[in-house]
Amino acid sequence: MARTFVTRLIPVIFGVLCAATCQAAWVIVDAGHTPAHPGATGASGRVEHLYNLDLSAAVASDLAAAGERVTRTGADGRDISLTDRPNAAPKADFFISIHHDSMQQAWIDAGRNKELKGFAIFVSELNPHYEQSLACAKAIGERLLAAGETPSLYHATPIKGENRPLIDRRLGIHRFDDLVVLKTARMPAVLVEAGVIVNPEEERRLAEPATISKLADAVSKGVVDCHP
Ligand SMILES: [Zn+2]
Repeated sequence: MARTFVTRLIPVIFGVLCAATCQAAWVIVDAGHTPAHPGATGASGRVEHLYNLDLSAAVASDLAAAGERVTRTGADGRDISLTDRPNAAPKADFFISIHHDSMQQAWIDAGRNKELKGFAIFVSELNPHYEQSLACAKAIGERLLAAGETPSLYHATPIKGENRPLIDRRLGIHRFDDLVVLKTARMPAVLVEAGVIVNPEEERRLAEPATISKLADAVSKGVVDCHP
């Protein structure tokens, strides 16, 4: 019990010290996909890019309020290539791409979309700052768990097209080396799937302003936690 208390206190102490002494970081906040290629389609028919825009706007706003410098990508309605996203600000300290999750069509057709919910976090070992990327993934996962969110372990399912190595089961962190935005980023980089929009109940929850605020608060605090 005492040890758990101390473990929980460390980030709090770090946060207080950091507020006084830490440098602001420059963070690229990427809204996954574009209006022309909007990603997954939610159970209601609303497309993923719109969910990504809402949540990434809230994350960007929370990070700016915390004193960080923010560059947004994928949020101006124009097409942007995957490699141009992390290169929009090559000198930035961190890149985070915000997505909302789907699953393979065969699972949706089999009615399994109602079974899955929760977040997933991806890192690439091909990123030049893998260890720092993983540290940030862990910080974000801890904040999401503390906010009452749960990891979806769907992407670790041993089926073709998934089967992503699970680095941290408790925090929902997977390795996905070939994710282009992560492997071409020059800075530490993480991709977050905030929730599963093909699940109708989960999609409704993810659209609520209170959920968006809660998720943005957790993600932005995780980003602030993980840089010196
Ligand atoms: Zn996506």
